[in-house]
This record gives sequence, C-alpha cells and structure tokens, in this order.
Amino acid sequence: MLRRILRFPKTCFTCSIASNVHTQHYDVIVVGGGHAGTEAVAAASRVGAKTLLITQKMQTIGVLSCNPSVGGVGKGHLVKEIDALDGVMGRAGDWAGIHFSILNRSKGPAVWGPRAQLDRQRYKDFIQSELLSTPRVTILEGSVQDLLLTVAGPEKPERHKVYGIRLAHGGEIHSHSVVLTTGTFLSGALFMGQNMSPGGRMGDPPSCAGLSNSLKEVLGLKIGRLRTGTPPRIIKNTIDFSLTVIRLPDSSPTPFSFINTNTHCKSEEQLPCYLTFTTPGVEKVVKDSSHLNSHIQQDTKGPRYCPSIESKVLRFPGRQHQVWLEPEGLTSDLMYPQGLSMTMSPEKQLCLIREIPGLQRAKIHTPGYGVQYDFVCPTQLFPWLEVKSTQGLFLAGQINGTTGYEEAAAQGLWAGVNAGRTSLSMPPLSLSRTESYIGVLIDDLVGRGVTEPYRMFTSRAEFRTSLRPDNADLRLTLRGFEEIGCVSEQRYNEALRVQAGLNEALSTLQSISLSAARWRDRLGVVSISETKSSILNGVEVLQYKDVSFQMLAYAFPELFGLYLEFSERLKVEALYRPHCDKQRREMKRMQAEESLSLPQDIDYLTLPVSLSQEVREILDAMRPSTLGAATRLPGITPAAIVHLFNYVHRNK
Ligand code: FAD
Repeated sequence: MLRRILRFPKTCFTCSIASNVHTQHYDVIVVGGGHAGTEAVAAASRVGAKTLLITQKMQTIGVLSCNPSVGGVGKGHLVKEIDALDGVMGRAGDWAGIHFSILNRSKGPAVWGPRAQLDRQRYKDFIQSELLSTPRVTILEGSVQDLLLTVAGPEKPERHKVYGIRLAHGGEIHSHSVVLTTGTFLSGALFMGQNMSPGGRMGDPPSCAGLSNSLKEVLGLKIGRLRTGTPPRIIKNTIDFSLTVIRLPDSSPTPFSFINTNTHCKSEEQLPCYLTFTTPGVEKVVKDSSHLNSHIQQDTKGPRYCPSIESKVLRFPGRQHQVWLEPEGLTSDLMYPQGLSMTMSPEKQLCLIREIPGLQRAKIHTPGYGVQYDFVCPTQLFPWLEVKSTQGLFLAGQINGTTGYEEAAAQGLWAGVNAGRTSLSMPPLSLSRTESYIGVLIDDLVGRGVTEPYRMFTSRAEFRTSLRPDNADLRLTLRGFEEIGCVSEQRYNEALRVQAGLNEALSTLQSISLSAARWRDRLGVVSISETKSSILNGVEVLQYKDVSFQMLAYAFPELFGLYLEFSERLKVEALYRPHCDKQRREMKRMQAEESLSLPQDIDYLTLPVSLSQEVREILDAMRPSTLGAATRLPGITPAAIVHLFNYVHRNK
C-alpha cells in the first residue's frame, strides 16, 4: 500500500494583504478568521470565488480559543465530513495532533468519536499557511464596522441585499456576498469575578457596535444572548502527576483525513493526558465565592454539555467531577484542565484548583474567564445559511448559537460553498440530514432554532448507522466534486478508487458461500454457528465478532489479498449492512418528501386547509423551507404535514 505522507502547505505570501484591496470587487467577503471563517474562505475559493477574509488580527487566524483539541463523539463525525468535502480542519488536526484516540470504542463503530489533543501553535500555523497558499484568497487585517445594504429590488422592497462592508478605519469594500463568522464577538463581554469588560475573547475587542446594530435595527433580526467560559491554564511543572491517573493515546494514531495514511506526530512522540477529580473543597470554594461571581448570577444560558465548574457544583452538590489535564503542545509548559471552566476571581481560582489532587501546589499561568455574546436566532436562515430577509448575507459559526470548533467549521464550509456558488450565479445547495451530520446540524439550527448553545451528538442523527465516520468520503466527496464543486480532482479520484475497491471486495465476499462447518475449518473460528440454511456468504461470516477481513484474506489470498488496505472498512460495512439496507429504503422515502420546497411567500395564517391555529402560528413563525424541515418542528402533527403536502402538490 502507498504510504501517503502528510505535507505542510507551502506558504505563498502573495495572497496576503493586498494594498489595492479597497478598489477591488470580491465575489465573497468573509468576516472573522475563526474556525467558521477559515473554512468559509477556503470553501468559497474552492468553488471558484474571488474571496477576501477580513479579520481583526492576522495572528489569531485559526486560534483555538478554548480547549486544544478537535473531534470527539459526534464532533469527530463533523471533522470527517469537513475533510470529505475537502475542508481544512481534518488535515490541520492530523498535522497538529499530539494525542490521538478513538472515543466510545465500547459502542459500535457508527458512533466512535475520533479525537485529537492538539499542539495549539502547530494548528494555527497550519491553518494560516493553508489560507495563505489558497488561490483566489486575499487576507486583510481589520475590523468590519458595518454592512453595506440596499433593497433587493423593486419587486421585493421588504428584502435587503448586501453589497459589501465598511471598515472601522474607513473605506468600503464591495462584494456580491458577505459571510459573517464573528463568533463570540457580537456585543461580547468578558467576566472574571465581579469584573466585566467588553471583549470577544481575552485580548481581543468585541465586534464594532455598528454590526450588531445593523443586524438588529436595520435588518430586524431576532437576536439572543448566550454565554460560555474557559478554564485557567496551569504551569505543567507545578503539577504532581503521581496523584493522577495517566491516559495513554491509541498506540497507532488514526488520521482524520481520508487523504492521509499517517499523522505528523509519530506514535512514540504522542503525549499522555491525566485524570483527576474534584473534592468537597472545590464545592466549598465555589459556594463561598458565588456572590462575588457576576457571570454565574446572570440568566444567560451556558453550554449544557460543557458547563462551568460553578454550574456543575451548584446543580449537582456532593458529586465528584472529572478533571482531565491535557497538554497544550508538544513543547508547551502549560496544561489545560478540561472540566474546570470558571469565572471567579483569579485568587479564588487558585484556591479552587489547589483543592484538587495533583494540583495542591499548582500555579496558574492564565486565569479562566467567561464570555457573554449575542447570537442571531438561526431560524431566520435558509438551509444554505443565507439570511432569509437579506440576499447575499450568510451567517456561520457561533453567531448562529452553536458552540465548538467543529460545529463552527462545518457551518463555515457550507456557508462558504453557497456564498461562492451564488456569487458565481450557481444555485445554492442544501445537505440533507439523511446524508450527513452537517445536514443534521444545519437542519436543526434553521428548523428548530436554539435556546442554549448547540453542540453535535450522535443521538441527533436519525440515520446514524449509515452516517458513520468511516464512510464520510463515500457519502460526500463524490457529490462534493460532481455537484457542489468544492472537492479537488485528486481527492475525487481517490474516493472513486476506494469506492471501486470496497464494492469489488463486497461483491466477492457475497459471491463465496460455504457451510458454517467449512468456514470454521478454513478460518479456525469456533464461534461461527449453524444458520437455518447452514450456508453463509463472506459478508455474513465477517459479521461474526471473532472474524476479521485479514483472516479471510489469509484463508483465500487469491480472492481477498488485493483488498487488505480496506480491512477495517470492510469489517464495518459488513457489520452495518443489514441496518443500512433498511435505512436506505427509509431514507429514499424521506428524501423524496423532505426535499419538497415550501414557497417562502405562503400565508400560513389564512391557508385554505385544515390546520389548527397553533400549527398555523408555528409555521408562520418558523417558515420552514422544505416539508422535511416542517416535519421536525415541535408542535407540528403528522396530519398537518399531510394537509401541507397535498396543498403544495396541488398548487405546484
Ligand atoms: P471565533 O473562533 O470566535 O472567531 C471569530 C473571529 O471573528 C475572530 O477571529 C475575530 O477576531 C473575528 N471578528 C469578530 N468581529 C469582527 C469584526 N467586526 N471584523 C473583523 N473580524 C472580526 N467551545 C466549546 O465547544 N467548548 C468550550 O468550553 C468553549 N469555551 C469557550 C470559551 C471562551 C472564552 C471562548 C471565547 C470560546 C469558547 N468556545 C468553546 C467556543 C469556541 O471557541 C467557538 O465555538 C469557536 O471558536 C467558534 O468559532 P467561530 O469561527 O464561530 O468564532
């Protein structure tokens, strides 16, 4: 098998800050160089758009604001899908990872969570270098003060159209579309103890007020407020690791990217993580200082699945909580204490960490803090992430009420693809929840909205046995090249090769049928049991826990030797085949109905069909763009869907 060696992208500074940037017209302007923004820029350029990235600080492009890791359960699926669509995150993870592990291994491979602890500096370097070497991309350091807006046209005076941005330091730049990815920076405020100061992240000012104002006052968008927080960073050599439990990485790191067969960090160079726990002393510090902690006294919703230590202690008194001590880099002298996000004063933070085994003498390098920010209620977006009321304006990332790098990157990629496509007069596209977790994420956001920071879980995907991390390339890369236009020919050819190899191997497996007794003989596996017909084909025998594809290739080298590189994938395919066949039939039915468009000008309140007042009001408020989206709205009955379906069909 060919060993593909991961390469760091070549740096080409010609596409950096161009001096004549103000006089140029761009297809797409992306505002913000976080995880959503960087994927948006790269994706828009891949579909052929001339793209400008404007971000407050060049040096913070691709910064990991909080935990130095990507992937995990649900989130790892997103990284694989971003990679399958030729995005950046997976390759950056493979370059910067220093501790790779597959989470959830006790469950089936459909819900395994590929994850990597990252070297912060390496990750950021990779992203910056990648963008600097991307064709059609210009990067400008600056702050966007406002959007340039006009009416969409005489026939739609109520709809706006964006035609560029105004910079804080003066000057306008024109474009066909704008992607806003301002993260936690919209009306951002930072909290530590009783102090509050304006900011989007420690060391960075919030977005200019003009931007929030335009979204709220001019475009009339519904805005909500959310919060999150980050833990203090601890000096490594002040930790007593002997009082913690060591967690080693997987012995053989699994790359995120389908085009990498190895990671930059070799197995023996990977670093361990350490587990410790909170004590009653931690609870006491939180309780004694809660009156001095403004962040936690506010009603603003924080991330339910990544809560601060204050929220955990106050919600679950008397419980012990895990604290993972994770390296911040290969040579970094800092550790990141996952599970200890906190917003109390720096003195109290020190008291708190010293109540934890292993941290009794620890020193804090940078204290933790909280951030509160505005987000735009995402039900106001089309499934291609364009604001319904404003032609050419796309939103992606934390601005849409999500939390996490992967959720931001996935939306960024999709907004970038569509901003690029519409700028080049191609129709926008949607991803269905039957084909991807990105489709699930976006459908949940635009269909249901958010009431608290949204993060991805495998349980959100109805078709999770088909939407596996191992097959994201077959689900998305082919469509990414043939229809979407965001995948390179090289990657497409590789996906075709893999698809052909897997199909051939599966047909060969299916074509060989033996009795259970003969399989037991040939493979030496006693657990292969008699079936009704007493005959099993190769796929059925591979479904046995104790049978691997390597065993089959050893027993029948002339039939299976060629396909050894696909051993893991074939095992997973065989395991899920019965579920997937059933799901494929269900998906076909759902896809047919799901994609039925609902006219945007439909008047639900007076629609001449039998709908309850409650259903009318929900449909009127949420304005789903497809029948599939309507089906998933809370409060919408199956009967209402049938009436709606018949009405739309009659009036097509
Ligand atoms: P960001 O990564 O925030 O990037 C926004 C970018 O926009 C920045 O580069 C900024 O400079 C730029 N920008 C903003 N306004 C302007 C403007 N007007 N003009 C030009 N550029 C602008 N996620 C978790 O999953 N778990 C956590 O525990 C967690 N804790 C967090 C704690 C803190 C303190 C912060 C700040 C974030 C935390 N996050 C956490 C969230 C995670 O960082 C984000 O989900 C992710 O980074 C969002 O990506 P994004 O691209 O939407 O925005």
